[in-house]
Amino acid sequence: MRCPACCIVLDQGQVLVHSALYPMPHGEPGALLPYLPPGVPENPSKRGVSVFDSIRTLFKSLAPAVDFCSIRLQDERSEQIAVRQNVLQPLSTSVDRGAMITIMHRGGYGYAATSDLSAQGLKEAIARARQWAEAATGRFVTDYGKIQLPRPQGRYQSPVSSAPPTATRRQLIDILMEQSQACAIDPRIVDWQAALWTVASRQLYLTADGADAEQDFHFVMPDLRVTANEGADTQSRSFGGGGLYQQGDLGLFFNSGFQGAGKKVAQEALDLLAAPNCPSGKMDLLLMPSQMMLQIHESIGHPLELDRILGDERNYAGTSFVTLDMFGQYQYGSDLLNVTFDPTRPEQLASYRWDDDGTLAEKEFVIKNGRLERPLGGAISQARAGIKGVAAARACSWNRPALDRMSNLNVEPGTTPLVDMIKSVERGVLMDTNMSWSIDDSRNKFQFGCEYARLIENGELKGVVKNPNYRGISATFWRSLKAVGSPDTVEVLGTPFCGKAEPSQAIRVGHASPACLFENVDVFGGQD
Ligand SMILES: [Zn+2]
Repeated sequence: MRCPACCIVLDQGQVLVHSALYPMPHGEPGALLPYLPPGVPENPSKRGVSVFDSIRTLFKSLAPAVDFCSIRLQDERSEQIAVRQNVLQPLSTSVDRGAMITIMHRGGYGYAATSDLSAQGLKEAIARARQWAEAATGRFVTDYGKIQLPRPQGRYQSPVSSAPPTATRRQLIDILMEQSQACAIDPRIVDWQAALWTVASRQLYLTADGADAEQDFHFVMPDLRVTANEGADTQSRSFGGGGLYQQGDLGLFFNSGFQGAGKKVAQEALDLLAAPNCPSGKMDLLLMPSQMMLQIHESIGHPLELDRILGDERNYAGTSFVTLDMFGQYQYGSDLLNVTFDPTRPEQLASYRWDDDGTLAEKEFVIKNGRLERPLGGAISQARAGIKGVAAARACSWNRPALDRMSNLNVEPGTTPLVDMIKSVERGVLMDTNMSWSIDDSRNKFQFGCEYARLIENGELKGVVKNPNYRGISATFWRSLKAVGSPDTVEVLGTPFCGKAEPSQAIRVGHASPACLFENVDVFGGQD
C-alpha cells in the first residue's frame, strides 16, 4: 500500500558504506557482512568489536558545550527475494548506515547527517549542525531553548520466539518458487509474483546529557500477487493485500499462511473475472481489516498528524481538515469508534520503546467513544502547538530528521461477531483488500476501491462482485460506523511505504483493525 503522498518511495538501492575506522559488526573493518539467515536476529555476543560502543566513546569525547546535542545512529540491513512467473529475480541486499546529529542552542535548532562514522566525520557533522543552530537563533517562531527532550535509557528488541525457525536462502527460494508455480492454474493468469523482504535495523540514540537507548528491530514482509486477464477485463488479487508485514523472526513467515496461498489467490482472481460488477447506490458497507487498514491510514492517520495541522506539510503531503480547536470536543465518529496510537503491540510493524526524539512510547487513545482526543505529534510539535500528543517523532533513516508519523494506529475491537454483522445487513457489500485510493489534500473527501467484494442480501453472504468502490468524507464517514467486529476479526497489518516530507521519507506503519460495518455509504462498481 502506498498512499497518495507515498507514491515516491525512497531509493532502496544498494547503499554500501565502508569506513576503515568503523569496524563492521563481523570480521575485519570494512568487510561485507557474512550471510545471516533472513529474519533471524544476530547473536550480540558474536558481534566482535561493538560498533555501538566505539560510537559511544567517540560521541562522549566530541559532544560540544551546547544546550542539547544528540546522535542517532542507524545500521540497517535488508534482503529481498522474489520469484516472478516462476523465474527467480536478482536478489537485492543492502547495508545502509550513518548518523544524524541534532543540536539545540540558545533557542536555535540544527541538524546534520553523515555516513562517515570516523572521529573526523562525526566532528564535521557536529560542526555543521552547530552552525545551523547558531544561524537559526532568534529566527524561529518556536524558541527551541524552551523544549526539553527526554533522556531515555535501556534497550528494546523485536519479539523473538523461543526457538526461532531458520531457513537458508535456498529453502526460502524453494518456498517462493513453489507458491509461484501454484499460481499458474489457468492461461488467463497473466502475471504473478511471490516475494519475501526481511530487514534488520539497529539503532542507537545518545545525548550529551546522558541518554543511551539501543533498539534492535527485525521485520518480515511476505508478498504474493496474481493478475488475471480476459479480453478488456483485468483483475488482481493478493495475499493479505501486501499488508501482512510484522516485526519478529521468520516464524511470522512460516505461520502466515503464505505456503498454500498461491492457488487460492489465483482462483480468486479468476472468480473476479467471471463475477458481475459491484452494484451502485447507498447501502451498508462491511470493510474487512485489509481495507480498514487504508481507511484508518488515510482518513484518520494523516489528518491527525500534528505537523500537517500546523501547516508544515502543505507544500507537499498536504494539510488537514482537522484544526487544533477540535481536540477534546469534535465528534470524529460514532460512539463505537475507539482509535489508539499503540507502539506497544510487540509484533506490529511500528512498535518501539522510544521514538526518534527519545520519548517513551506509550499507548494512547487518539479517538475515544468517537470523540477526538489528541493528535499524532511528537515532543517538538507538542511544544509548538501547546497540546498533548504521542511519541510519534520518527525518521525513516539516519539521513532524515524526525517528523510526526502515525506509527501503529489501530481501531480497537468491539463486540459484534462477523456473522452477526452480516445477519444485520438487508442490502450491502463486503469489501476486502485495498486496490486504489484517492483523497484530497486536507484528507477529507475520498474515494477508495478494493480487490474483492461479496454481496450481502437479507442477512446472507452472496456471490462475488468485482470493481467495488465507495466514496465519502472523513469528517462525517466515521459517524456512519454502526458495528465494530469482535476481537476474533482483528488482523495486525502494516505497510513500509507511508510517504511524507521533503526530502521524501517512506516509513513503516502498522494498522490493526477488526472488521467494521458502516451504514448508508455511497458504493459504486465498474461499468457493465
Ligand atoms: Zn501514508
